[in-house]
Amino acid sequence: MTDQAEPRTAHQPEHEGQPVVLRSGLVLTMDDAHTVLRDADVLVVGDRIEAVGAGLPVPAGTLEVDARGGIVMPGMIDTHRHLWQTAMRGYGADWTLTQYFVWYYLEWGRCFRPEDIHAGNLLGAIEALDAGVTTTVDWSHGLQTTDHADAAVDALQAVPGRFVLAYGNIAAGPWEWSGSPEFRTFVERRFTPGDRMLGLQLAFDVTGDPAFPERAAFEVARDLGVAVTTHSGVWGATGDDSIRLIHENGFATPQTIYVHSATLSADSYHRIAATGGSVSVSTESEQSAGQGYPPTFRLRQHDIPVSLSMDTSVWWSGDLFTAMRTTLSADRSREHLDAHAKGETVTHSALRAEQVVHWATRGGARALGLDDVLGSIEPGKQADLVLIKNDESPAMTPILNPYGHVVFQAQRGDVHTVLVNGRLVKRDLRLVGTGLAQARAEVERTVEYLRSTLGEQAWNAGMNPDIPARTLLDNPYTYTDYASGSTHGQ
Ligand SMILES: [Zn+2]
Repeated sequence: MTDQAEPRTAHQPEHEGQPVVLRSGLVLTMDDAHTVLRDADVLVVGDRIEAVGAGLPVPAGTLEVDARGGIVMPGMIDTHRHLWQTAMRGYGADWTLTQYFVWYYLEWGRCFRPEDIHAGNLLGAIEALDAGVTTTVDWSHGLQTTDHADAAVDALQAVPGRFVLAYGNIAAGPWEWSGSPEFRTFVERRFTPGDRMLGLQLAFDVTGDPAFPERAAFEVARDLGVAVTTHSGVWGATGDDSIRLIHENGFATPQTIYVHSATLSADSYHRIAATGGSVSVSTESEQSAGQGYPPTFRLRQHDIPVSLSMDTSVWWSGDLFTAMRTTLSADRSREHLDAHAKGETVTHSALRAEQVVHWATRGGARALGLDDVLGSIEPGKQADLVLIKNDESPAMTPILNPYGHVVFQAQRGDVHTVLVNGRLVKRDLRLVGTGLAQARAEVERTVEYLRSTLGEQAWNAGMNPDIPARTLLDNPYTYTDYASGSTHGQ
C-alpha cells in the first residue's frame, strides 16, 4: 500500500528479520483439535510460524525468549473497537447507551478534528498491542471527511499491529458517504486488496426504514469486495427489521459481522445462522450500556460463530482478557438464572473457558475471513503470538488448567511478549519501539481542545450524568441496638 513503508520505518525493531523462538512454554495452539503442548517451542522465521514442538533446532542467530512458566497463545483478535474514542478514555464510565448517543452522535462527535482521530487511534492501537491484541477492527465511525480517514489510517500504520479500518461516518447517511468520489479515491489511495496488515470494511447501522436506504452502501461494499459490519440487536436502536432487510435484500453473507445482536428474535438469529454471518459480542458493553443481555447463550443455540470485542475505551479497556472473563461469566449467569426461574439447578456448565479462548482467537480470524492465516499456532500461519508470563505475579502459579488460567487468572499486565507478523512488539513486559510518548502528547492536546470547546460546565455534566432517585424499601425490622444486632418493633 502506498504510505506503509515510511511510517513503519520509524518503528523497526532492532531484531527485524531475525528468527525468534519462544522456548519451553505451555502452548495453546488453538488448532482444530485444540492441541495443548507443554514444554514446547514456537519458532518464527520471517513473518510466519516455522515450527512448533519440543526442543526445536533453530537457525544461527535466532533470538531466544524463555517461555518457561508462561502460556503461549495466538494473538487475540478484537472485531469491534472505536479506536478514535480512546482519546476520551474512561470519560463515559457511568454512561448508558442513551447518554453515549447524545454525547457523540448529537452533541460533540462533530467537534473531533482529523488530529483528534489520529490521537485516539494511535493510543488505542498501542494499547491493543500492549494487551496482546494483535489484530483490531477499528470501527471508525467518526470519519466526517476523508481527511479524518487519512488521519485514522496514518495512526494505524504508525503502529506495528494488524488492523482493519471499518470505515464509517455517523455525521451522514451511509448511502451518502459511501457513494462519494472522495471516499472512492481514499480507498484507492490507502488500500491494497489482499493486504493482511491493513484491511477494509464498511461500518454502518441499518435503521429498519422499510425503504432500506442503506442498500446503496451495501452495494458499494459488494463492489469493493469488502465486508459490512453493523451494530444490530441494540435495544431501542436496531432490531429484527434491520436483520430482515439485510437478509431479504441479499446482503447477509458469511463476511457480515453483526455487532452485539443482543435483542433479536429467533427468526433473526436463524437468518444470521443460515447465511453464515458471525456476531461480535462485546459483553462488557452490553452489560453496562444496555444493548441487551450478552447473547452468547442464544448464539450457541443457533450455532452462530462468535468473536469478541471491547467496543470503546470511553467506557472500557482494549483488553480481551476482560472480554473473555465477562463473556464466560455472563453466559453462566444467564444459565443459572434461567434454571432458577424453573426451580432447577445447573450442575454442569455448558460454556467452557476453552471456548471463549477460541472466540478470542479463532473466532476473530474466522469473522475476518482470515482463518487460514491467523488465529492459531500452526506452521505456515502468520506469526501473531502472545506469551503470558509474569514471574513477579502470585497469580501466575500454579498453571493447572491453561484455558481457565487465561480467562480467570491472567490479565493484560501479564502479557510478557507479543509478536505481530513475526515482529517483536512487546518484550519482557515492555512495548518495543511504539510511540507511546507521542500518543500521550497528542491525546493531551485533544483533551485540552475538547475541554475548552465544550466549556467546563458541559465537560463536567457529560462525565457525571444524573443519578436516578433512589427509593428505599420499608424495612419491617427496626434496629435499635446495632452492636448486638437485637431487633425490636415487629
Ligand atoms: Zn460499537
